[in-house]
Amino acid sequence: MQKTAHIIGAGISGLSAGVRLANAGYTVHVHEATQQLGGRCRSYYDAATDLVIDNGNHLLLSANHHVLAYARSIGSEAGLVGPDRAQFAFVDIRSGQRWLLDLGNGRLPLWVFDESRRVPDTGLGDYLALSPLIWAATSKTIGDTIPCKGTLYDRLVQPLLLAALNCDPPEGSAGLAGAIVRETLLAGGQACRPLIARDGLSGVLIDPAVKFLEGKGGSVRIGRELRGLDQAGGRVTGLKFGDETVALGPSDVVVLAVAPRPAMALLPGLTGPTKYRAIVNAHFRITPPKDAPALLGVVGGLVEWLFAFPQRLSVTISNGDRLVDMPREELAAAIWADVCKAAGISAELPPWQIVRERRATFEATPEQNALRPGAKTAFGNLALAGDWTDTGLPATIEGSVRSGDRAADLLLGRG
Ligand SMILES: Cc1cc2nc3c(=O)[nH]c(=O)nc-3n(C[C@H](O)[C@H](O)[C@H](O)COP(=O)(O)OP(=O)(O)OC[C@H]3O[C@@H](n4cnc5c(N)ncnc54)[C@H](O)[C@@H]3O)c2cc1C
Repeated sequence: MQKTAHIIGAGISGLSAGVRLANAGYTVHVHEATQQLGGRCRSYYDAATDLVIDNGNHLLLSANHHVLAYARSIGSEAGLVGPDRAQFAFVDIRSGQRWLLDLGNGRLPLWVFDESRRVPDTGLGDYLALSPLIWAATSKTIGDTIPCKGTLYDRLVQPLLLAALNCDPPEGSAGLAGAIVRETLLAGGQACRPLIARDGLSGVLIDPAVKFLEGKGGSVRIGRELRGLDQAGGRVTGLKFGDETVALGPSDVVVLAVAPRPAMALLPGLTGPTKYRAIVNAHFRITPPKDAPALLGVVGGLVEWLFAFPQRLSVTISNGDRLVDMPREELAAAIWADVCKAAGISAELPPWQIVRERRATFEATPEQNALRPGAKTAFGNLALAGDWTDTGLPATIEGSVRSGDRAADLLLGRG
């Protein structure tokens, strides 16, 4: 008998669940409420810069094995590009000091023993002081666990954990930070190579998944908001889309891969994070200097990471709630001033765009982390996915794909 899976939400979590179920023989139908696919991970044409931009600059690492396997499944792994060695260029825009953190490409973090590869002005003891984070309890904050001050903190720990958790590190969950440290820094340079979807998030992570699912007889539809569920005998028996109710057969399965709020409205009694943090991205239409690294860590200013794309410089600022109500022109000018210092250029403000994602991620504090549910629900044929479900990781693409894989495995009886 033909087995059918319905995926609610066309973000990375839903699409990865769909790809896994399609690979297991299901015909997959994806239903997306909005007019665009990809959720918080998508590209679009921006008239202000006359460029296709991503809603946010997304950085992946070679440790993100589930993302890489997903990209391999849909034939787009080559679109995730990065250097052979895990090297990260940094600048402190207060002093102008520049350095290269060279994590190498080995399986052990041996770089900490080599002064020339470490963060400047740090010693081995500074790195050993981070060890309590490795297996920290989920109830602890990072501030309770490691010293949140000093040169190593300012130049590496703070930028890394701020980017990974999207909250001020001292208040962040030490358990989530520990998972990041175990999977990346502790696993050596081979796990830390930066990877970027240089030709755009949609072209690498979204559109090929849609093509893959359609090629296997499935469908991906926009403007299809799930409004309610019919249920009987511990199973979901119908999906209500407003204008239409889709009746489910006895072997049909559903993955609910929407944000916490709609999930909790559809499944009364479900708990999930209730607090979010913003991420601010700025895009400037300018040809980057020839020697500009693809990714530059920026310390001592408003800008945190500077990405160089063929025709633009783009900036990420995490934990950006303080910036969401600032006038756009003022914000663009302030960010551009930092970009000029970081990139070593002097130019008038070029065409720009600011993208402020107010609910970019759930707040990665111990309190909010404790609210995350697993994939299992009260219904035998319905599983939950989403970066906000209990993946053991902060809200990341890797966490999203893991949640999608786990939801699919549960429905396939492999969970
Ligand atoms: C600006 C920004 C920068 C980021 N940077 C990074 C980064 O550098 N590295 C990294 O790994 N991660 C990063 N992330 C996080 C990453 O984008 C997310 O973890 C991931 O995209 C979440 O995917 P998701 O599928 O879980 O959720 P979403 O993308 O939110 O997808 C949920 C989908 O469900 C749809 N939906 C909601 N309700 C319904 C309904 N009732 N019926 C049908 N559809 C519905 C929504 O419209 C949406 O399309 C960043 C996020 C942002 C916003």
